Amino acid sequence: MRVALNVNENTHPIPEAVARDIVEAVAGAILKVNRYPDREFTELRDSLANYVGHGLTRDNIWAANGSNEVLQQLLQAFGGPGRSVLGFPPTYSMHSIIASGTGTRWVEGERDDNFEISPGTAVRWIERSAPDLVFFCSPNNPTGTPLSLETIIAAYDATDGIVVVDEAYAEFAPAGTPTALDLLKGRPRLVVSRTMSKAFAFAGARVGYLAADPAVADALRLVRLPYHLSALTQAAATAALAHSEEMLAMVDDIKAQRDRLLLELPELGYPAWPSWSNFVLFGGVSDPHAVFEALLGQDILIRDIGIPNHLRVTAGTAEETTEFLKALARIER
Ligand SMILES: *Cc1c(COP(=O)(O)O)cnc(C)c1O
Repeated sequence: MRVALNVNENTHPIPEAVARDIVEAVAGAILKVNRYPDREFTELRDSLANYVGHGLTRDNIWAANGSNEVLQQLLQAFGGPGRSVLGFPPTYSMHSIIASGTGTRWVEGERDDNFEISPGTAVRWIERSAPDLVFFCSPNNPTGTPLSLETIIAAYDATDGIVVVDEAYAEFAPAGTPTALDLLKGRPRLVVSRTMSKAFAFAGARVGYLAADPAVADALRLVRLPYHLSALTQAAATAALAHSEEMLAMVDDIKAQRDRLLLELPELGYPAWPSWSNFVLFGGVSDPHAVFEALLGQDILIRDIGIPNHLRVTAGTAEETTEFLKALARIER
């Protein structure tokens, strides 16, 4: 595929100097692969704690092969048959899929207008369904919608269960925006899930993590498979985190392309939803399938996420974004 803007990857490769450092770290780890890896991935947890800041330490951090695995482990530990998780579609499709895979009943709440969730709406759905877990996605995939801390606090106070905030796109929010990490202190049932797949351009390495009370990490130690994070993964991620500044250098670039999409899509007649992530959901598409196929015919892949009259596109490099916008402009509305 010439221009792949379908799964919200970071379309910029990682800087070559950083890549060399990572290769060196992986090469060092290879020399010891006859042994099992550090099952506590202590160095990686230290690096992640250092990266997320907020006074968190390694005891607050857990990691796995992508945040999808982190979410699965959370549902293995706290969900399962006879238990339920409340989510608010349209949202990240893997949330309900992982619920189903772990035998956890998926309960669908409804959003307010504009895909938002007010504190009152969150509380109403929690009171109505008494879920064991609540999944939020902030900013939400596939809509890009931010979620207020007030909603998270209200939800937390309304349930005895675990509240998970999936912040896969946190780094793409406006600089200085508060995150659910700010709420962790004094809230032992709150879990903030993150990933290196998007902002860190590390999707192929499979590293996701969470920040929470140490007791949450202890619960996941009961369900994870032994040595679930390979020595190579640990080495690569730790080396990448030592270069977080360079790794994140492209985030501003991507945000600029996202803002360009937000500006130029409406000019083409496609209203776009506000986005705090690296993708944009746009409407005004009378036949999403036809537009998807027409773009595909030009070797441009975006995403039909099943919302009527809408499509989702990831912000790519400047060139990719230009190609997409040009191709879209050529398609008859
Ligand atoms: C992309 C994405 C993830 C990332 O999953 P990984 O397994 O870490 O690659 C998690 N949550 C959401 C909402 C996403 O869009």
